[in-house]
This record gives sequence, structure tokens and C-alpha cells, in this order.
Amino acid sequence: MLDILDYLPAKRKTTPSGWISFNAVCCQHNSSTADKRTRGGLKPIEQGWSYHCFNCNYTASFILGRSVSFKARRLLGWMGVPDAEIDALNLESLRHRSIHGILDDRQRMFNVLAGIEFEERELPPMSELLSDAHERREYLRSRKVPDDYPVMVQLHEERSWKNRPSVIIPFTYNDRIVGHTQRFLDDRNPKYVTDSQPGYVFGTDLQHNDWTHAIVVEGIFDALSISGLAAMHNTISDHQARLIRSLGREITVVPDQDSAGMELVDRAIELGWAVSMPPWPNDIKDVNDSVVRYGRLATLLTILENRETSKIKIELRKKNLVKRLRS
Ligand SMILES: [Zn+2]
Repeated sequence: MLDILDYLPAKRKTTPSGWISFNAVCCQHNSSTADKRTRGGLKPIEQGWSYHCFNCNYTASFILGRSVSFKARRLLGWMGVPDAEIDALNLESLRHRSIHGILDDRQRMFNVLAGIEFEERELPPMSELLSDAHERREYLRSRKVPDDYPVMVQLHEERSWKNRPSVIIPFTYNDRIVGHTQRFLDDRNPKYVTDSQPGYVFGTDLQHNDWTHAIVVEGIFDALSISGLAAMHNTISDHQARLIRSLGREITVVPDQDSAGMELVDRAIELGWAVSMPPWPNDIKDVNDSVVRYGRLATLLTILENRETSKIKIELRKKNLVKRLRS
């Protein structure tokens, strides 16, 4: 089968993390000047490869078992791979379609019919699994992010957004990457740069099959720290509501305890969902603050203890909270 490495320019070098850099082959085809500063990167990944150009920003990837995408086809063409070889690669790849691929397709079809679908997205260029970046590990520990969530960092920070240290939280849906948020760790603005699709809810892949409840919160870190769902705003769109309902769980909404959070309460009432507003001290504004101070289990218990389903009781609790916020 076609080995892309055979077609890479001879002048190239490999980084310890497996990226191969060489003069990009794409730029002159994308109205940029040809690359002379080894700005092209290719990384062999399990059963495939991923390509990114830092000169013209062209990206493409290939995974055995899927058809060769339009962008991958163009790239291979620019590298000098004959069309017949590309067609052969495509056939060979489809022959490797695994049972997983077929099941994935079936789930995807179900989601399309239900109107819940997100396109696959790329992470920022040269994102790598976070391994030993100490300062970043500390930050994630301080926010109580579970160790097994695949947080990423950017390999060549000097090439990344304004040189700023950051962590990248991939957004997944049915275990495919459909977006991300990049949280910068210095004190400058913006704090977050986010790539998200309309109707997306963070955290569906954190839900276990046998759970009967799901907790809806505002922020990514709130969701990560209790394996909840994040609306990522102080409201819930109709599309998001449909996705959350499709999980078939008892829903509890936990708003941030600030005036913006009260909008989420109104929306939860509208949707007929339960709301929990635990009596946290004034300096605890959200679920993540509570997990940091009291731990995950204690936070979950107070959320369930203060769960209200009746509209009148929720309104009353909200009124009391608003009063407390003003004082
Ligand atoms: Zn390029």
C-alpha cells in the first residue's frame, strides 16, 4: 500500500514527538509563496497520518478504513503521487473498514435523522497530549480536571497564538473531535479561544451508560469536575435541549450563582427541568469552585439534596439567591 513517507521531500527532520517537518508542498497551490523554511509538518498516527502547513495553513489527514478525503487527495497529488496510486489507496482503505467504522456510521445516521450531528474538526496545529508540562498539570489539578481527560498542549508554542501558554480541551461527540477550547494561562485577554458548533453540548462522552441522571452546568471546567454537561452559556438553545433530551436522563440544571446564572434558571423552568441551587458561601460561584473546596462527592451530594422540580419552589429559591447576591 502507498506509504506517504516515500513521497516526502528528502530534506526533512523528525521531532521527538513524531512530527516530520519539511518544506511544505501546498503553499504555491493556495496563492501563497512556496515554503523555504520547513513549515510543513506530517505526523504518522495510528493507521494514518495528519498534515499541517504553518505557511498557508493547509491541513489534511488520512485514516485507514475511511475514504481518502478531497483535501488528502489534493495533498498527495502535490507530493507527486500518481492518481492511480491514490485511487488504489482509497480502495485498499475501504477494504479495511472495521465493524467499528460500520457501527459509527450507523450511530451517525441515527444522529442525522434525529437532527443531532456535528462535523469532525481539527485541533489547533501540532496539538500534543499533555505529558509533563508541569505548570499546566498544576493548573489542571487546581481546577480538578480528571487525570484521564485528554488535555492537549501545542508543540511549537512560538508558532501558536501570540506565544501564550495554554491548555487545549478537545470537545468530543461520540468520541470524535468536533471542536475545542484553548484556555490561556497568563493574565491576558482573551482567556479562552473556542471552536464550537451550534447546538453542541460539552460532556456527552463523559456520561456513563448506566447513569440515570445528568447534571447541566455552564462551564467546561464545571462539567469536567463532576462529569456533567456544559451548555457553555448562561442559556440552553433549542438544539442543545434536544441533544440533552436524547440522552434519556433525569436532568438537573445547576446555574452559576451570579446574576447571569439566573437566566439559566428561567430557561430550565421553561424546559421543565429540575434546578439545584446549593446554599454555597458567597465566594463559591459555581460547581467548579465547590469541587475545588469540598471535593467531587460532597458537591454532587449537595446538588442532589437541593434539587427542586416544582416551578414555585425553584422561583422561591431563585428569589432568595438574588437577594443574597445583592447583599
Ligand atoms: Zn502550505
